[in-house]
Amino acid sequence: MEVLFTKAVIDRRVEELADVISRDYQGQDLIVVGILKGAFVFMADLIRALRIPCTVDFARLASYGSQTESSGKIVVTKDIETTIKGRDILVVEDIVDTGLTLSFFIDMLRKREPRTLRVCVFLDKRERRKVPFEADYVGFHIEDRFVVGYGLDFNEKFRFLRDVCVIEE
Ligand code: 5GP
Repeated sequence: MEVLFTKAVIDRRVEELADVISRDYQGQDLIVVGILKGAFVFMADLIRALRIPCTVDFARLASYGSQTESSGKIVVTKDIETTIKGRDILVVEDIVDTGLTLSFFIDMLRKREPRTLRVCVFLDKRERRKVPFEADYVGFHIEDRFVVGYGLDFNEKFRFLRDVCVIEE
């Protein structure tokens, strides 16, 4: 497996993102919503690097597709438990690829009328979009290669890796 981003590079970038987010949400009551399972490692690092308080919640989405690509048919298997109406919500996800998962989830949350709703993704495969989607905060832009580690899996394996690695097809 080829290392794409080392732990040191990831740590530095997470600190940078947290600085920007801390500035943007200064004085606000931030609720960070992680999408399981992939986002849990990134989110744990991100919220600890913030210099503002936050609360957390989680949703779990399933998209029944192939092992390496979402089908576009997305199902909420665990919803968040927080009332978000009038609140400031930051959704955290591991990676945006086709954009289908996040655009579905954001549309769903928007209907609940949060005051603000933004998205932070660790990785962005911009060239693969099937629907238009722009995250507000992006860790790294990457090419169309299948990556694992730092929470990202292949068949539930490799989530524990400290580096982000590319699986050779
Ligand atoms: P989207 O709905 O944007 O196509 O895809 C989002 C989901 O596809 C991610 O949450 C992730 O589960 C999966 N995915 C897309 N690209 C990759 C990748 O390179 N590696 C891994 N592990 N998952 C990916």
